[in-house]
Amino acid sequence: MRARSPNVLVWTSTNRCNLCCKFCFGRERREEFGTSEAKEMISELKRGGVRHLVFSGGEPLMRKDIYLLAAHAKKCGLRTILHTNGILVNRRNAARIARSFDVVNLPVDGASEKANRKMGRGSLRHTLEVLDLLSGKTNVTVSTVATRMNAKEIAGIARLLEGRKISKWRVFKFDPNLGAALKNRRMFEISGREFASLRKRAGGAQFISPGGEFGRSYRLVASDGNIGD
Ligand code: SF4
Repeated sequence: MRARSPNVLVWTSTNRCNLCCKFCFGRERREEFGTSEAKEMISELKRGGVRHLVFSGGEPLMRKDIYLLAAHAKKCGLRTILHTNGILVNRRNAARIARSFDVVNLPVDGASEKANRKMGRGSLRHTLEVLDLLSGKTNVTVSTVATRMNAKEIAGIARLLEGRKISKWRVFKFDPNLGAALKNRRMFEISGREFASLRKRAGGAQFISPGGEFGRSYRLVASDGNIGD
């Protein structure tokens, strides 16, 4: 890993996913590191100065070795963060997930079951159950992808999250530049002005645009270990 490492590194631990969101900008077809390569990469990241490792995807919980890799990252002294769609989280594995990850991020893209499913993220009820299951045990954050389709949901999502134990809610502007998102951009694209106008309905959420400061605060590593810009 030759490039200088930032504090936060987002690793596409797998491109596999159990959902098929039409606004997804990931899921390229690439090789995936096996367990020993991944452990080696994690050790190297730590030596290179990374402090926070985000296990992203695809759906990271589809990796059978995910707990082993998280344990290795913790042993190396890294703070572990899981970006999951929540589908594979349940009462049986919630405690283990909370022990393995310092932060778990869940997606909420609609304020009603229908709106959340329309965006492609599966059952809202399940996501909220998972949120409540994990929030007493580890730090939970929520992310929302703001698009033309769910712009009207933002105020409702704010109400839904009110009073729940979450450490942060981030609202991302739909990024039409890659993957399925590029193909379906007309369905989802939202202008900068429309996105900015959602702020007043979103309480204390952090608003994030592609190419902004947030994007520059971390570096991406693909599933095969290649470093993005
Ligand atoms: S947006 Fe996330 S949950 Fe949806 S298909 Fe892409 S990786 Fe899977």
